[in-house]
Parts: sequence; structure tokens; C-alpha cells
Amino acid sequence: MTTPVTGPAAIRSSTRPRSITVTMKELPDPAPGEVLVQTEYCGLCGSDLHIWNGDDGYGWVPCGTVLGHEIVGTVVLGDHTQNHPVGTRVVAIAQSGCGRCSACVAEYANGCAEKRTLGLSRDGGAARFVCIPASQLIAVPDAVPARTAVLTEPLSVAARAVAGRGRVTAADTVVVSGPGTIGILSALVCQYLGARVVLKGTATDVATRAGLASRLGLDLVDALPIGYKPTVWIEAAGASAALDDAVQELPVQGRLVVVALYGTPPVLAANDAVRKELDIVTSYSSHRPDYHLALDILQAHPGLGELLVEVVPLEDIALAFEKVGHGTAPKIAVAP
Ligand SMILES: [Zn+2]
Ligand SMILES: [Zn+2]
Repeated sequence: MTTPVTGPAAIRSSTRPRSITVTMKELPDPAPGEVLVQTEYCGLCGSDLHIWNGDDGYGWVPCGTVLGHEIVGTVVLGDHTQNHPVGTRVVAIAQSGCGRCSACVAEYANGCAEKRTLGLSRDGGAARFVCIPASQLIAVPDAVPARTAVLTEPLSVAARAVAGRGRVTAADTVVVSGPGTIGILSALVCQYLGARVVLKGTATDVATRAGLASRLGLDLVDALPIGYKPTVWIEAAGASAALDDAVQELPVQGRLVVVALYGTPPVLAANDAVRKELDIVTSYSSHRPDYHLALDILQAHPGLGELLVEVVPLEDIALAFEKVGHGTAPKIAVAP
């Protein structure tokens, strides 16, 4: 009898606040069609923070679940029917569906009645090892280091909002409100597509994030430059005031893409929006084509991880969540 291989994993231990504990977990056994991945980095985001805080609306995440859906790692046990040999660096598509329904055939897992999300409804990657269906893995191009590749999932969310739902092209002039992770990444997607873009935040945002924005080649402002006429507005702030700004600043038939979630229900100046015939769309999560665009963008920015990602050892999960809560870096990732 051999001793089972174990590795640390961040597991929800109860629904009370601060009940995510790092414990040693036995190597999971891949089911047919799954691949065993050794995690290099796993990013933490807002949904993880809600679980950490024990917030309402996340009580359904089962105790015992390993956290984490922003995964980059290396295949350590492959599935020979698929294209991911041992040693391949991969990222995981966070959401998956049944694979058979019309939503799944259209690669829109969010529309599947059996949708599952890594780190929420099945074990995620804030652990040394994670089993992931091979169909959910995408190989990382050699030019993209792991610390940059860990941005693939949040960048795919931005890619969906900007390119997919927002249909932004080089002909557009864009405002992105909210210089948090998704806001910054959305502005980078606009930049990649050749659109003109400014990132709009509060005066405090400008004071704390201006240096970072300029290193990324982005303009971060607290008021739109005189004469700046957006055709598209990406709302990533999650604040009523930003939504109101968008409605006032957009022209007739302008496009408003809401990618934020709101802590308190926002107020929308609906009559103004109606009179302008604004094209209002929402954007949530992301799907395979968005991940491919994200990886294309990361190939153009291989050093992005150095600028945006702060790495914390998995053992220090409490410190990691403190940093997520304070927004010390645009992205906090744990390293198991
Ligand atoms: Zn995320
Ligand atoms: Zn389905």
C-alpha cells in the first residue's frame, strides 16, 4: 500500500464568515474525460470574496468545496483521448454545461440548465491539484508566462463585455467606468481592438491607480476630456452614479454595456435612456471564444502579470482575502 499523495487546498468549511481553511487534501481521482492539473496560480475575485465574507446569496456553495475558478496550471495526468499531454500549461474555462443542449452546442454554458462553475459548484483550483474536464481546458501559448496567464478568465469576462456584447471596433470611442480588475482589463481589450478609450474613476481611483494606468498606456480620468464623445460605454464600476453618467454622456443610439454587479440595486435614468434609444446590454461570465480572444491579447502583453498580479502563498489565504477586499492590486492570486 502506498501513502496517498496530498496537497494543500482552500476549502469552504462552513457558511460563516472567514470559513475558508487551507487543509491537506488527498490527490483527487480524475473521472473519465477529466485531466489532473497541478495549479501554478489561482486568481481570487469578487465571488470568492463573497464566500469568504459569508455573504447572502452564496450560502448555496456547498461546504467542502475547494475554491477558485481562475486557474492556470500544468497537466500532470492526461486523458489520451484529448489534446492535453502531460506537461502542457493550461487555463480552465470556469463554466461548463451538459455539452448536449442547444446552449452548450452554441458554446454558451451560462444558458445550460446543468451549468457548473469551478470553485462554486465543483472543486476549483485554489489547491495544489484539481481535476478538470479536458473539454474545459485551453493550452496556454508559450509566450504567455503563468503569472500573466492567470489573468485569462477575468480578461475573458472583459473580452465578452467589450468585443462580444459591446461589439466594439476600431471605429468606436469608448468610456470604461470603474478602474477595478474588469474595468482595467476592459480598457485593455478596447485598446487591443484599436478603439479610442478612456478609463473613468473617482478622484480617489485616479490618485491611487494613475501610475498603473499610465504604465498600461491607459488614460485614467475623473472627468471626461472636453469634447470626448463616446459611442460605447462599458460600466464596470457597479455604482449608480456611473450608470447615470453613462446615460447622460452617451449620444442617441449609443451602446451601454453593463458588466458590473451592484451591491445595492442601481437607479437608472430610464426616461433619458428611452428618449435616446440607448442600446443597453448586459454581459456576464464568458465562454470559449472569449478565452481565445483573452489569450490573443495576453500574447501581445506577456508582461501584464508583473503589473497586475500580486501573488500570495495559498497558506496565507486570510491575507490574500484581506488584499482582495482592500483592492491593493488589480488581481490577487494564490500559489499552492
Ligand atoms: Zn473570476
Ligand atoms: Zn447544456
